[in-house]
Amino acid sequence: MTPWERLQNEVIEPGNCFFCGACVGLNPEILTFSETENGPVPKLKYSENNFKPEKLELAWAVCPGRGIPFPELFRLQNPKFFSWLIGPYENIFLSHATDPKIRLEAASGGVISRVLIHLLDSAAIDGAVVLQQGREDPETATPFIATTKEEILLARQSVYAVTPTLTILNEIDAFPGKLAFVGLPEQVAAIRMLQAAGYPAALKIVYVLGPYTGTNMYSGAIRAFLSGQGVSEKVPIESIRWRAGAWPGHLDVTTADGQSFKAEKFYYNYLIPFYISRNSQIIPDFTNELTDISVGDAWEPILEKQGIGHSVVIARTKEMHKILADLSYSNELYLDPIPISKAFSMHGHMLDFKKRGTFIRLASQEQRGDPVPDFGYIPQKIPYSRKLIESIISAQFSIGRTNAARKVLHYIPVSVLGPAFNILRKVWKYISKPGKRRGLVDCRFIINDNRERWQEINSSAKVISHDLN
Ligand SMILES: Cc1cc2nc3c(=O)[nH]c(=O)nc-3n(C[C@H](O)[C@H](O)[C@H](O)COP(=O)(O)OP(=O)(O)OC[C@H]3O[C@@H](n4cnc5c(N)ncnc54)[C@H](O)[C@@H]3O)c2cc1C
Repeated sequence: MTPWERLQNEVIEPGNCFFCGACVGLNPEILTFSETENGPVPKLKYSENNFKPEKLELAWAVCPGRGIPFPELFRLQNPKFFSWLIGPYENIFLSHATDPKIRLEAASGGVISRVLIHLLDSAAIDGAVVLQQGREDPETATPFIATTKEEILLARQSVYAVTPTLTILNEIDAFPGKLAFVGLPEQVAAIRMLQAAGYPAALKIVYVLGPYTGTNMYSGAIRAFLSGQGVSEKVPIESIRWRAGAWPGHLDVTTADGQSFKAEKFYYNYLIPFYISRNSQIIPDFTNELTDISVGDAWEPILEKQGIGHSVVIARTKEMHKILADLSYSNELYLDPIPISKAFSMHGHMLDFKKRGTFIRLASQEQRGDPVPDFGYIPQKIPYSRKLIESIISAQFSIGRTNAARKVLHYIPVSVLGPAFNILRKVWKYISKPGKRRGLVDCRFIINDNRERWQEINSSAKVISHDLN
């Protein structure tokens, strides 16, 4: 089989594509994306006879959709501490930027933007790969290389729509200087594999930052949100802000006819069961474990009541730990160390969704005879009660993604669905909490080193030549 046939048969068709964009970014002359209801799908620009199959070997070697060799990648990080739930770490903090201009418009505490600005100011980098909603057109987000503080601030906030950020690889290749990269776990994994392969563009990336990543949605979610409020598909969207206003922020969509539609963060979560992307259901990495620093919302009732952003931050390398300490010393970052138990309790549901839910979902996929990604580890034992809970979660997603269910959404306004979903969410969290948390912290994992894959990644450096035309 050619690498393209394998990508199609083992990744794209079984629904294992992570939409990271690496295959297209590495081969923009051969591949492009085709936008579908279930995410952007890589496709050939021309017939397979028009290029040498070897051109796609690197894309195949580093494709996260066939799996991510986490154990080998963790070893490269050489951490002081390690937890199977949150990955390698030096220290964990509650944090936020002290400058209100950075903090107030950010997704949580503005830590990612604050660190990027510091890296630029101190000439540790010459640019940062970030993602901005509405940069090229209002409905989509576009990755770009920010080279000034102003550009970094333009890219603040979270984008909750699947975006293949690594299509930017050729721009990275052309960039003259050192870079930071901000990305989701699968994108970060692809960058780490490209670095292991010695791919020159990836070696320009000297710092990797990333948000915790729970769920992400397909692009149809915003149109469903608008339709529920009587807005025709024909009315153009003028702007989308996913976390506008006071933390935790609200969705704010304005349309070309001058209307503005808002929904609190926990209300528009009703869209998740209908538009949740498959990739966010089949990756066991919630806290962006392969980064140098990862940042999430500090979900704690006392902090949530303040209505101003707070982050939980995992410093994973000594160098990043020192950068955070320096920023705290110069009073540019509030930094308060917390025990790992607090980091677990803030995000118990999502850690469980990723660290056990993922493997239950993948086991069902495997039972159906479909290929599944290999992450180099699996949980030793998952209690029966947890599997039962998963059957309810997965049934919700299976029904939610049908056209009929998605259509229903178009007729019910957010003013009804939002609060109703929020109540259901709280009830479900309360009922499922014992089952979801039981045994989670003590969960053991069996490592299953995939030496062949690791060798393939390392040796794929030899196919990185520019004379493969
Ligand atoms: C899809 C998604 C799901 C998330 N799920 C959770 C969750 O379940 N629990 C939780 O605690 N936190 C989650 N987060 C993280 C949270 O929303 C904030 O991003 C995080 O707290 C960092 O906040 P900040 O204020 O430091 O970031 P900011 O200073 O606002 O900077 C955010 C940076 O992230 C980049 N970025 C935003 N969206 C994307 C994207 N889709 N792909 C690549 N880069 C992006 C921006 O370009 C910017 O540089 C999620 C984030 C995303 C994007």
